[in-house]
Amino acid sequence: MGASSMLTTGEAPVPRYNVGMRCLLRILFAIATVICLLLAIGTATLWVRSKDLLCDGLVHYRFDRAKRSDTQVSIDSLDGRVAFHWLTRDRSGTMPDKREEALGGLYLTKQQFPRSVISYDSFGMWLGFYLRLPVPRQSESGVVAVPHWFLFLLFSLLPVFSLRSGLLILRRRRLRLCPTCGYNLRASPDRCPECGQLHTC
Ligand SMILES: [Zn+2]
Repeated sequence: MGASSMLTTGEAPVPRYNVGMRCLLRILFAIATVICLLLAIGTATLWVRSKDLLCDGLVHYRFDRAKRSDTQVSIDSLDGRVAFHWLTRDRSGTMPDKREEALGGLYLTKQQFPRSVISYDSFGMWLGFYLRLPVPRQSESGVVAVPHWFLFLLFSLLPVFSLRSGLLILRRRRLRLCPTCGYNLRASPDRCPECGQLHTC
């Protein structure tokens, strides 16, 4: 009953759009689109390379001399998927490998693998997704893998949406229609009488 008394008659109020904020959001959206496009291209490149059983990886390796243990965290692109892999190993009893010790910190790797070396077992694999969690006292390593096709699809969503809406806006501008709602703007080119949108940005 209170709601009906709040309704006003006459012209619908023109929405006040903050043009500066709208421009900022548009710029942020454009930046996000470019980032997603680059990530999609990068994913496609890694995908093609991974089919040659080339492993591209970003690895962080740490050896703790005092505790005689080492930790490895890596992101690898191999055999159609990107895998996040972590390994914590207690090395008490054996001396650390000098080569591994030298590879401390964050570094990029590129390695060629024969197919027989790839150790994704079928258990835990689903549509290219893979999950293996560490088992106490048995295995100290864990793997979470996501297929390239999924990442490519994910990163492509925003660029495809932007392309589609960009083409629609261009078409509406060419026909002198409001880019937002499609209303004819021949009478008032600066502000849309239908949605109140200013066209100064
Ligand atoms: Zn409009």
